[in-house]
Amino acid sequence: DIATADGGPRLVTHLARAGWLQWRDSVPAAPPRPGKGPLALRAELDDGQGFDLTEAGTQKRLAVYVVHDPAEVPGIARLGPDPLAGDFDEARFTALLAGERRQLKGALRDQSLIAGVGNAYSDEILHAARMSPFKLTGSLTPEETHRLYQALRSTLTEAVERSRGVAAGRLKAEKRSGLRVHGRTGQPCPVCGDTVREVSFADSSLQYCPTCQTGGRPLADRRLSRLLK
Ligand SMILES: [Zn+2]
Repeated sequence: DIATADGGPRLVTHLARAGWLQWRDSVPAAPPRPGKGPLALRAELDDGQGFDLTEAGTQKRLAVYVVHDPAEVPGIARLGPDPLAGDFDEARFTALLAGERRQLKGALRDQSLIAGVGNAYSDEILHAARMSPFKLTGSLTPEETHRLYQALRSTLTEAVERSRGVAAGRLKAEKRSGLRVHGRTGQPCPVCGDTVREVSFADSSLQYCPTCQTGGRPLADRRLSRLLK
C-alpha cells in the first residue's frame, strides 16, 4: 500500500505467491520491453527512484489497484484479523478455529480467516508448533491450540523484527535466511537434523519435517506416488 504525499490516490498491490517488489535507486531510462519476463509493473517516482513489481512463473495473479481508500480493494475488504494486533488474543484465535473443519495448512493461509499468512509462513508456523499440515482444526486439544497460537505469534513477530530496517532490495534474501523448512526440501531440519520433505500440489508445494511434525512418518505426496506406480 503506497500513499501519495498529498492524500491523493493510493497504489495497492497484491503480490500473490510469486510476486516481489524490487526497489530501484534509479529507474532505467529505457522503457522495458513488453512480453516475456517477470516484470509486471515499473513505477517511477518524482526523484528518479522507483520500483519494479515482478511475478515469476506462468500463473499470473499479481494485482495492482489505484484507489482512494484501501478498503475499496475487494481482497482487503474481506481480510480476517491481523494476527499481530494487540487484541488478537488466544481466545479470539480459538473462536476463529472453532468454526472451521479443515486442514491447518489451508486454514492458516485463508486470508479471510487470518490476514497475512502465506505459503512460506504457514509452513514455518506449523513446524514451530510441531504439527502436521494435514491435521484438522476441529481435532486440536486446548493445549495444541495454545501451542499453535504461540507459534503463530512468535514466528510472525520474529519475521517482522528481522525485516525491520532491511533495505527493500535485501528483503527476499533476509526472508529466505530465516526459514527453517519452507523452500528447504532435502536439507536438514535445523531443530532435529531430519531431512525436510515436500508435498506438491498442482500449483504449489509445502515443506515439513517428519520428525518434528508427523511422528517421523512422511506424508503422502501424490506426485511421488504417481511416479512410483
Ligand atoms: Zn525437525
